[in-house]
Amino acid sequence: MGHEYDSVIIGSGPNGLAAAITLAKAGQKVLVVEKYHSPGGGVRSEAGTLPGVVHDLCSAIYPMAVCSPFFESLSLESYGVGWIDPEIPLAHPFDDGSAAVMNQSLEETVAQFSTGDARSYRRIFEPLLESGDNLFRDLLAPPKFPSDPIAAIRFGMTVLPSAKWISRTRFSGEEARALFAGNAAHSVLPLDRPLTTGAIGIMLMLACHRKGWPIVKGGAGVITDALVKCLEHHGGVIKCDWEVTSLDELPSATNYLFDTGPQALAAIAGDRLPRSFCDRLNRYRYGPGVFKIDYTLSGPVPWKAQACRKAGTVHIGGTFDEIAAAEKAPWLGQTSEKPFVLTAQPSLFDSSRAPSGQHTFWAYCHVPANSTVDMTAAIERQIERFAPGFRDTILSRQTRNCAEFQSYNPNFVGGDVIGGVTDWRQLLTRPVARLKPHTTPADDIFLCSASTPPGGGVHGMCGYWAAQEVLNSR
Ligand SMILES: Cc1cc2nc3c(=O)[nH]c(=O)nc-3n(C[C@H](O)[C@H](O)[C@H](O)COP(=O)(O)OP(=O)(O)OC[C@H]3O[C@@H](n4cnc5c(N)ncnc54)[C@H](O)[C@@H]3O)c2cc1C
Repeated sequence: MGHEYDSVIIGSGPNGLAAAITLAKAGQKVLVVEKYHSPGGGVRSEAGTLPGVVHDLCSAIYPMAVCSPFFESLSLESYGVGWIDPEIPLAHPFDDGSAAVMNQSLEETVAQFSTGDARSYRRIFEPLLESGDNLFRDLLAPPKFPSDPIAAIRFGMTVLPSAKWISRTRFSGEEARALFAGNAAHSVLPLDRPLTTGAIGIMLMLACHRKGWPIVKGGAGVITDALVKCLEHHGGVIKCDWEVTSLDELPSATNYLFDTGPQALAAIAGDRLPRSFCDRLNRYRYGPGVFKIDYTLSGPVPWKAQACRKAGTVHIGGTFDEIAAAEKAPWLGQTSEKPFVLTAQPSLFDSSRAPSGQHTFWAYCHVPANSTVDMTAAIERQIERFAPGFRDTILSRQTRNCAEFQSYNPNFVGGDVIGGVTDWRQLLTRPVARLKPHTTPADDIFLCSASTPPGGGVHGMCGYWAAQEVLNSR
């Protein structure tokens, strides 16, 4: 008997939509089912508490989206996405009122460092930049023999040690060390862990030097709107307000793809999978969570450092050692008094985000998994440290702790927003050690979320690769 759909996708984050688009483009009849009242997962923007204000609820800055071969193949611009490059992609302020900056231009970036650090920085990035698109194609793919082995070896040799080791041995000045620490902290790991802290830091910096760290005109939701338009253009259908708890409730389909965490896959489809496989899915590890604040301000953030006033992203945390301590704390079950705070200021570059004169400001820090501690005071102390008078500009704030993140999106388990721990073991074997990581022992069930290779971030590549497995399986 024929099935109602070729593929049903559970979850409409960027990976679910990427899988759906890939399959619909291949001629499949596709349905996407989403728990929330609108699609998008970690790529949503919504009106704030004040009129005319738009907040990016989760992601806000898109270095991996503009490096994604899948997104590039869709020409998202033709579906309405306008990338905006802030004058400075990233600034990192210090107590003395100065700031380190990461520009898209390598030359402009090294110009701020001492001669020795400039030479080291150039030595890291110049050869990696020469490998162009090939290296990113390999980094955004499941573990396999690289298409450009020389570039892969070069990258591997550079990033093998921990972020701490790289910063100590490559740089002598605090500017370069702290700038690197802030990037490596996106791994959500203690910075003395080898293999992935350095790799994630260097990959994000490399992405900046290739294509910048853009925001999206109109807010994150514009990316999702574009993906949905593209899916519908190819005949795909989305149904929202539907939280899937069992495969039995879904229409019959040849394939089911899960844009969910591994444990949700086990809970929903466990009766179709071997017990031992479900046990392995349930052993998948999640890391620290986040505490986030979305602000509406009466003016721009009054940064002491001028560079921060021109930056899309500002990393707040001071020196390398301070950031390393702040990022270690959640792994010890502690909240930091001086957290490392990741901030974005989209309305400085996109006037559609707030009424004239007002601004939106996006800030979050890492906290122990499942923490319910209110980090508002600690985050605001850190911002005031580099932007005295910040508190006076606050018109409204909305906060979200770990539990609230998980109830908003079940993929954010315990508040972990990157789809699980990114240490080398789990980065190479996510979700479980398996030759084809997006497949399961059931030949009609696939996993396509950020808990599969190549991992977290908005790039759609997990979904793209899962869809390739579907297409290759028949
Ligand atoms: C605060 C925050 C800041 C971030 N900042 C950035 C950033 O600046 N840049 C960047 O690149 N990345 C960022 N990320 C990470 C990025 O958002 C995620 O890595 C990405 O969204 C993962 O995509 P995904 O498709 O795998 O899953 P998700 O985007 O999590 O989507 C999964 C979807 O599946 C739905 N779902 C789950 N279970 C079910 C079910 N049982 N039934 C129906 N639907 C279900 C969920 O509701 C959700 O819509 C951030 C995330 C957060 C939360």
